Amino acid sequence: MATATPLQVHNVVTEFLATPRKLLIDGKWVQAHSGKTFNSIDPATGEVLARVAEGDKADIDLAVKAARRAFESGPWAKMSASERGRIIWKIGDLLQENLEEFAELETLDNGKPLSVARVADVPLAADLFHYMAGWATKIEGSTIPIAGPFLAYTRREPIGVVGQIIPWNFPLLMAAWKLGPALATGCTVVLKPAEQTPLSALRLGELALEAGLPPGVLNIVTGFGETAGAALAAHPDVDKIAFTGSTEVGKLIVQAAAGNLKKVTLELGGKSPNIVFDDADLKQATAGAANAIFFNHGQCCCAGSRLFVEDKIFDKVVEGVSESAKKIKVGPGMNADTTMGPLVSEEQFNRVRGYMEAGLNEGAKAVVGGKTVGNRGYFVEPTVLVNTKPTMKVVREEIFGPVVTAMPFKSIDEIAAEANNTSYGLAAGIWTKDIAKAHSLANKLKAGTVWINCYNVFDAAMPFGGYKQSGWGREMGKEALELYTETKAVCVRIN
Ligand code: NAP
Ligand code: MG
Repeated sequence: MATATPLQVHNVVTEFLATPRKLLIDGKWVQAHSGKTFNSIDPATGEVLARVAEGDKADIDLAVKAARRAFESGPWAKMSASERGRIIWKIGDLLQENLEEFAELETLDNGKPLSVARVADVPLAADLFHYMAGWATKIEGSTIPIAGPFLAYTRREPIGVVGQIIPWNFPLLMAAWKLGPALATGCTVVLKPAEQTPLSALRLGELALEAGLPPGVLNIVTGFGETAGAALAAHPDVDKIAFTGSTEVGKLIVQAAAGNLKKVTLELGGKSPNIVFDDADLKQATAGAANAIFFNHGQCCCAGSRLFVEDKIFDKVVEGVSESAKKIKVGPGMNADTTMGPLVSEEQFNRVRGYMEAGLNEGAKAVVGGKTVGNRGYFVEPTVLVNTKPTMKVVREEIFGPVVTAMPFKSIDEIAAEANNTSYGLAAGIWTKDIAKAHSLANKLKAGTVWINCYNVFDAAMPFGGYKQSGWGREMGKEALELYTETKAVCVRIN
């Protein structure tokens, strides 16, 4: 357990937490229509961190109306792409200027180490806005030579009012991934943050107004998935829904969206294979395999949760990953020496604990970990399981915690099929010095991202998303922009 004294929380953060947080609708901060609130919990202690308005269907209705007005007739609709880009850029600048405040909010609400929020969540979110700001002026159609006396061209128009539902694992960054392309293309948004981690998105809403985003362009309705989220997904005046979260809820979103056939993009779960060959740089591969599963406490949709190791080096790699696990300092995210914080919630804690127990009961062996830590907050040990079988729950299902199953394999011929033996297809890792082998296997893996001799590398310019039941569409990069626009073909008789 980490032991250092907690770092001091800055006054701006303490004040932000002390004030009950409201919904952002039409540029104003308002109470929920019902007057209800709910608590956001600090997962390091299980205690109440802040009170937040509990929006539901009525608030979603108001937010969608505001977003529709802003899309059809507000200043946003008339604004030049260049001006739009400048506002988005400014949001990125303001995030950088307030980096420390956002990192603290993220740590307190989500549990992740402050040192991680400072170098990953907040800077990546700022970078996403800067990257997308540049695209605002570069969204172009094309001219198309067609038969006959016609001029044909396409326009890329914003899709309209977008509902965005995001999870709790990277609260600010997921908001950025969603908002960046929506704003760059000129859409308007109703954002529903996760009930466990609503705070950084609400603070981001304040920055967006400060950056000059007109009223109604970004509306934020905090609340629960079954009420606010479901109302947004089903809303007849929403043109697109973008969702990140569990595959189970993803399927509900698709059903809800069928009413008005709104467009849907989904970024769902994963059970990503991480494959180490015996000709890999073992030091790099071992550290990479540990990072692939333990980063963000395994609460990553792309976590390298199935570690496949060529049999000759299996024991060595398992030992290396286990040694890394032993060095991890589990503790509150606000402690200076913490390298792994608590899981996000009691529910998630029980879920991960349940998986650990199921794995051990089914005959898996924990080389390291397998237990919970302390009796306050939601801490678990980083865990490496061996002696697993492909049929076990821990091998098949997404755990979303710091639990990796390590399995030996014999040859490149069998590994692609084994790696692909999952209903998911979000990411994969390959570790080898043989570049031909790496590329050949990369081609065979059914995954939206393949990392070779690295893992968890993200960039605003690189598309991210899933094959199979890991999702529909892509986030980031120019692929994301396409999914926020409609293509209009215009055909003109010219003689
Ligand atoms: P989840 O239920 O899928 O939550 C994701 C978002 O969807 C939240 O904002 C949630 O609201 C909302 N939501 C829930 N039910 C909804 C509905 N019927 N209609 C519309 N929106 C709805 O995920 P979770 O329960 O927090 O986590 C469960 C598991 O999902 C995890 O253990 C993990 O396996 C997976 N997960 C994956 C990702 C990812 O990045 N792919 C992220 C988080 C979780 P509430 O906040 O009120 O629930
Ligand atoms: Mg919280």
